[in-house]
Amino acid sequence: YSVSQVDFENLSYLGEGACGNVQLMKHTPTGVKMAVKRMRRTQDMREQMRIFTDLNIVIKQHQCPHIINSYGAYVTEQDVCICMEPMDTCLDKLQKKMREKKIVGGVPENVLGKITVGVVRGLDYLKRQYSVIHRDVKPSNILIDRHGQVKICDFGIAGNLVDSRVWTRDQGCPAYMSPERIDPPDQDSPSYDIRADVWSLGISLIELANCKYPYNNTAVQFSLMTEIINSPSPTLDPTLGFSDDFVDFVGICLIKDVSLRPKYERLLQHPFIKKYEAVDKSVIADWYTSNFLDQEN
Ligand code: ADP
Ligand code: MG
Repeated sequence: YSVSQVDFENLSYLGEGACGNVQLMKHTPTGVKMAVKRMRRTQDMREQMRIFTDLNIVIKQHQCPHIINSYGAYVTEQDVCICMEPMDTCLDKLQKKMREKKIVGGVPENVLGKITVGVVRGLDYLKRQYSVIHRDVKPSNILIDRHGQVKICDFGIAGNLVDSRVWTRDQGCPAYMSPERIDPPDQDSPSYDIRADVWSLGISLIELANCKYPYNNTAVQFSLMTEIINSPSPTLDPTLGFSDDFVDFVGICLIKDVSLRPKYERLLQHPFIKKYEAVDKSVIADWYTSNFLDQEN
C-alpha cells in the first residue's frame, strides 16, 4: 500500500533531530503503527523526490534483519515524510535513560557485542547490496527493541547520492566524523569510503560502553574537529573490565589512517564479532526489558 498524509493519526512524539522530528503515528487504513520522520522540503523538489524515490526502492525491498523497514514516503506543502517501522528506542535515548536511572557504567559488553554484530551486518549489507554508504552512523541511528532486534536507520540520505546537488553539503554529525572526512587528503574530490562509517561505529561504541562521549571539546564544533584530527584516537580503558577482544575491535575501528582501517569483511572475522554472533539476541531483550520497560509500559 502507499502512504498518504490523510491516513495518519498522531499517537506520540518520538524525538527530534537536526533535520526534523519523528512522530509515532497510526496508519488508519491498516492499523499499522509507524514512526514518521518529517523533514523540511528544500527548494529543489523534483530532485528531492527523485532521491526519496530512489531511497524507498532501496529500503522497501531489502532482506536484512538489521535495516529498518520502510513503508514509503509522502510529501506535504512544507515537508517530506518518511514512514518507518517503529522500534522501542534508539541508543542515544537509551543513554539518557541510563543516566536518569543512575545505572553505573555503560551498556554491558555482552549487550553491546550483540548490538555491534547487528550494526556491522546491516552496514555490510547496505554496501554489498546497494553500494550505499551510511554516512551518519551514531547512537541515535541505531535502534533496538524489547525482542532484542537491532536495526540501523537514516542511511543513505546522503549516501549513494553524493553527486546530487541537494545534498552536496556533508550531512554527517561532526562528533562521529572520521579524520579523513573532516580533513580530506584530496579537497577537490573527496572519496567517501565505508571506512568513515567504521570510525563512527568505533566512537559510538566507546560512548555506549562508558555512557560518555569520548572527546572533550564538544562545545565548539571547530575545536572538536581539530581534536579529532590532531589527537590520538580514543580507546577503551581495559582497567574498566572490557575484554581484550572488545578493546582491540574498537582500536582497529579507530585507526586514524583510513588506508589501514579495516572494512566490514575483516571486521566480521574479528573474534569480538565471532563471539557475539554465537550469542542469542535475548541478551539484548533481557537487559532492555528488565531495566527499561517497566516504567514506560
Ligand atoms: P537524529 O539526528 O537524532 O538521529 P532523527 O530526526 O533521525 O534525529 O530522529 C530523532 C529521534 O527519533 C531519534 O533520536 C530516535 O529516538 C527517534 N526515532 C527515529 N526513528 C525511529 C524509529 N523508527 N522508531 C523509534 N524511534 C525513532
Ligand atoms: Mg536519525
